[in-house]
Amino acid sequence: MKVFVLNCGSSSIKYQLFDMADESVMAKGLVERIGSQKAGVKHTVGSGPNHGAEHSREAPVPNHTAGVKLILDLLVDPRVGVLRSTDEIQAVGHRVVHGAEKISGTCLIDEKVVAVIRENFALGPVHNPPNLAGIEAMMAAMPGAPNVAVFDTAFFTTLPPKAYRYAVPNNWYARYHVRKYGFHGTSHRYVTLAAAELLSKPLDQVNLITVHLGNGCSMTAVAGGKAVDHSMGMTPLDGLVMGTRSGTIDPAVPLFMIGQGLSAQQVDAVLNKQSGLLGLSERSNDMRDLLSAVEAGDERARLAVDMFVYRVVKYIGSYHVILPSVDAVVLTGGIGENSLPIRQAVCRQLSRLGAEFDEARNQAVVAGKAGPITRDGSKLPVWIVPTNEELMIARDTAALTAQLRRP
Ligand code: ADP
Repeated sequence: MKVFVLNCGSSSIKYQLFDMADESVMAKGLVERIGSQKAGVKHTVGSGPNHGAEHSREAPVPNHTAGVKLILDLLVDPRVGVLRSTDEIQAVGHRVVHGAEKISGTCLIDEKVVAVIRENFALGPVHNPPNLAGIEAMMAAMPGAPNVAVFDTAFFTTLPPKAYRYAVPNNWYARYHVRKYGFHGTSHRYVTLAAAELLSKPLDQVNLITVHLGNGCSMTAVAGGKAVDHSMGMTPLDGLVMGTRSGTIDPAVPLFMIGQGLSAQQVDAVLNKQSGLLGLSERSNDMRDLLSAVEAGDERARLAVDMFVYRVVKYIGSYHVILPSVDAVVLTGGIGENSLPIRQAVCRQLSRLGAEFDEARNQAVVAGKAGPITRDGSKLPVWIVPTNEELMIARDTAALTAQLRRP
């Protein structure tokens, strides 16, 4: 089965075409700056006669419909394509960010699911509208193919009320749906499944702390294979220090800054786009840049990195307490998978919980590999497990479509 996976942002479409026979990537790419003069596409071929071909150019892409058309044309292009016809695509999987309380799993997209995605525009204003634009564009371009939605929030529908409610008046929850929803769920679910397998534990018996450290950062407490707490909140702003987001702060700070003359929109933009590593360092949101700056003696960069690690270990400590036991701390995302100094700093800080850092293993588990960075017999193992949200979406899409086909 060939499954096409789309991840539509407000001005971009990321895509991957999978051959599910061996889960190989046939082609992947990115349409970016949709709606601007500088729109364009980057496309890479992973299999077939055009294997290794790369194609990158500027192109007019006024909206998501045009973006989807551009991608489908590339997939059948004799020079950089991998299909004779788009009819070979048997199902399409879409990343959808906000399903709120109504969606607890992967689902075939019908009118009801479209209505739920639309209802949640207010809760996911940055993501749900472009997610839906991609779905509608795909449905129009390939009316015969089933479209499947994989929601970021679905993994967190198992959180108990004591974890997802805020201590605010009931009415805020009942009337305005103010609660923790959680994000990055597809990544946390993927590494949970992968870690259970790597640790040879049945999924319903595995207890983990999964830590996604990318540009956005989040952490999940997993008990018996299910999420029981999570660091992001009603929006992805809460929790860990991120590339440009503040993470947890005193909720009175935005009100104070509004009192100082900023508008609510300005505060929102600062906390989401100019805070975190970027805000602290006044240099970059990229961990690689910050680590080089620390080497060169930059004190702001040092504080940014210290706060990043401090917040991560503080959350791990709190999740350690609420879980019945911890089989492993699992680090993933661009920083978790690649940044050796951050892995080392986190792991060393966990020594009191029984993590015995192994330098040689830290050096060895790189370039997309999975493995522990603690010694054998460590009371608290720390593992690196590369995430793959697109593959998770493709697997879900293939499984659901196969189920539908069964008589
Ligand atoms: P996104 O959340 O946008 O998908 P990624 O998961 O790719 O982001 O993570 C981006 C972060 O990963 C950046 O801070 C980047 O510096 C970091 N990163 C990627 N590769 C490395 C590396 N080799 N060493 C250190 N940090 C890295």
